[in-house]
Amino acid sequence: MSAPRLEIDLDKIQHNARTLVERLALRGISVTGVTKASLGSPEIACAMLRGGVKGLADSRIENIEAMRRAGVMASMALIRSPMLSQAERVVAHADVSFNTELDVLGKLSSVAKEARKTHGVVLMVELGDLREGILPRDLEHAILGTLRLPNIVLMGIGTNLACRSGVVPSPENMGELSALAESLEDRLGIEIPTVSGGNSANLEWALGTTHVGRVNDLRLGEAILLGCEPLTRQPIEGLHTDAITLVAEVIEAKQKPTLPWGDIAQSAFGDSSRPKDQGRIRQTIFAVGRQDIDPEGLYLPEGTELLGASSDHLVANLGTSHLPVGAEMTFQLNYSALLRAMTSSFVGKVVKTPRAGAPVVRPPLVG
Ligand SMILES: *Cc1c(COP(=O)(O)O)cnc(C)c1O
Repeated sequence: MSAPRLEIDLDKIQHNARTLVERLALRGISVTGVTKASLGSPEIACAMLRGGVKGLADSRIENIEAMRRAGVMASMALIRSPMLSQAERVVAHADVSFNTELDVLGKLSSVAKEARKTHGVVLMVELGDLREGILPRDLEHAILGTLRLPNIVLMGIGTNLACRSGVVPSPENMGELSALAESLEDRLGIEIPTVSGGNSANLEWALGTTHVGRVNDLRLGEAILLGCEPLTRQPIEGLHTDAITLVAEVIEAKQKPTLPWGDIAQSAFGDSSRPKDQGRIRQTIFAVGRQDIDPEGLYLPEGTELLGASSDHLVANLGTSHLPVGAEMTFQLNYSALLRAMTSSFVGKVVKTPRAGAPVVRPPLVG
């Protein structure tokens, strides 16, 4: 089989999704499955749906289009604010989009009217992570502006934390989101059906708190695909952390000194740190590099160590295990490595479970 490749175990992805869906259901929270790290793979999307996620969400319209073309039947939300230049594609293929700019909403509205469709909208609120979001004090104005737009349906409000700045979801910021939903409903006499609390980093809060407030949906990608909690990168109990693994092939294995020789300047990737001297060791090179993965995002087995990486090579000290040229090794990945591997055309994708033929019924729109 060709290497490098990702081996994708759909049953494990389904199990992870199902486990999270069931745990969160006890708190009145549904799960939207986020597919952005899987490049619109219909197999992965369907495994999430079999696991009980209510709908799918992706940051790229291209991925949503790919899932549509493959016949995936589900509600699909675009969770990166749409570009003005993509409004037609967004209305054509996404049921819902997450928005923060009235100019974009106006364009979505006129495109939707033209296409005789309605388009669902979730307004994102800025609660401190400083990525996308309308400041709380401007939310009422944005909602009033949205409600005036023909062919646009306000599905709810949401927020995203722990992404750009690592702001931790807490009783305070989640409480603020709930309070916003309630006060806007009271003041404007409207209904805000969906309160989308955040991503995998919200799990600790959602499963630990006694009061989820109005939050009734989470958008989960990493936790389903990697079984990990992103705030601490710890495995989540009962979930598989090896649903997706990377297999790479050895192209050189030789005893070499650990220190380079000659005049030393910066390396190709600007790294000027010096390796520690371990004398002569067996240095194993895998045919996989920065074009394919984030080397710092590979989990090497106990007793082995990453020595360096270039665009095309991963250099490791495998300790006492000796892999000959041609041998393969399996690595677990973090989100950053997974994202790059999924989007690298040099990395094969091998789906382990044969396509399960279970029919996927179309769930209702978000909310
Ligand atoms: C990526 C993303 C998610 C999912 O994040 P995970 O950490 O993979 O669960 C949710 N919401 C938004 C807006 C995102 O961009």
